[in-house]
Amino acid sequence: MDYLNAGLDVVHGYFAWVATDPFDWKLFLQLSSWGVCLFETCLLLRQFPLYSNEAPPAVLADHFKPETFKKSQVYGKDKATFSLIAGLYKQVVDSLFIHYGLVAWSWKVGGRIIAKLGYGPEYEIVQSIAFAFTLFFVSSLPSLPLQVYQTFVLEEKHGFNKTTPQLFVTDLLKSWLIGFAIGTPFLAGFLTVFRWAGDRFVPWLMAFLLTFQMSMVVLYPTVIQPLFNKLSPLAEGELRSRIEGLASKLKFPLKHLYEIDGSKRSSHSNAYFFGLPWSKHIVIFDTLIKQSKPEDVEAVLAHELGHWYYMHPTKLLSVSQIHIFSILALFPAFLRAPPLLRAFDFPPAVAAKPPTIVAFLLYQMLLTPFEAVVGIIINAISRKFEYEADQFACELQTKLQDEKMSDMGDRLARALIALHVENLSTVWVDPWYSAYHHSHPTLTERLTALEGYKADASAKKSIVQKKEL
Ligand SMILES: [Zn+2]
Repeated sequence: MDYLNAGLDVVHGYFAWVATDPFDWKLFLQLSSWGVCLFETCLLLRQFPLYSNEAPPAVLADHFKPETFKKSQVYGKDKATFSLIAGLYKQVVDSLFIHYGLVAWSWKVGGRIIAKLGYGPEYEIVQSIAFAFTLFFVSSLPSLPLQVYQTFVLEEKHGFNKTTPQLFVTDLLKSWLIGFAIGTPFLAGFLTVFRWAGDRFVPWLMAFLLTFQMSMVVLYPTVIQPLFNKLSPLAEGELRSRIEGLASKLKFPLKHLYEIDGSKRSSHSNAYFFGLPWSKHIVIFDTLIKQSKPEDVEAVLAHELGHWYYMHPTKLLSVSQIHIFSILALFPAFLRAPPLLRAFDFPPAVAAKPPTIVAFLLYQMLLTPFEAVVGIIINAISRKFEYEADQFACELQTKLQDEKMSDMGDRLARALIALHVENLSTVWVDPWYSAYHHSHPTLTERLTALEGYKADASAKKSIVQKKEL
């Protein structure tokens, strides 16, 4: 631990000026967030002309009816236009918020709220919670009309929306309540660790955040998701026995197998698994079950179990720990920096002794360009994992010595195509746009890779057969 702290002290030495020298942090934030926004706009403009292509890529030509392809192009174009306008609108709003000192204003309002409840400014954690919710509430209001438009105009127009206005409002209120119920103890715990651990908070805070992440893995599907969706045990039948059979052959610790009423809100479909290492649950969207045959849904699950087999969720968790560490490691330089708060319109009395939550939030905002780069790296890792899971599904026949799995690649391809067609997903994708935004390879990329894996798998199989002879 001393070694770690000594290393961190060296890093903080380089940034010692942050605590003492005035710097126009507000201008830095405005420039960097506009930079990221303009970069994203350029990517959209690269992607935009592809929605005017007249025919799908050659690998997909046989699978898309001309009218389905046309529909997917129109849907893609509408979504891209919306993203373009929404992105610029959000950036203008955020930029105005920064310019007029929303963060400092929220801290003042937080102070007034707790004063009404009988707490003085010496109760920093209580004021921090009131501040965080004020800031969240005010800054999320401008994007509400965008959400309404997206759900009731854009998705509705293309036949995907199943949300009623009533459901929309209850969802929103529920998510705010849950945010408050989880956010309050989280913030209180987070700030208490800071106060308790003093300058050596990095390892302690990481342990706290990891504990929180792990408890969300358990709480989200068991407590939170059921508030929004109904999970019911998957009915007995071909699909259930196929998935149970596959799970037991792979020694996947399957505890429960659920069907989720994803169709309550949208017609988009999917499947996923979650849980602790010794007890896993699989969830399949009712929409996926409806649109694909049991053997094809099984191939989708084979892909999902590939993620488990290669420990992708654990690997992604490790990446997120490195990410969190790098953020926390540099934070002490910004923790007691009056010039930082002064740059964001805080009165001298507050800036002189910066509240931890305010310093952390401002620091996070300054990291906008860094986070954009991290996003690109995480997407690249995630796309690599998707290929690995696809390959896993194709190699099941040799792994399990099961002849019935020899067509897994074809089945997965069929399911992926069906998912794409049903969701009217975009088929033409600009590589730069994809590298920045996509956690999954495009359909064309996946189908091309699947062909390769199928060829590899059958070559391996013939080697095994030769050896047996
Ligand atoms: Zn996947």
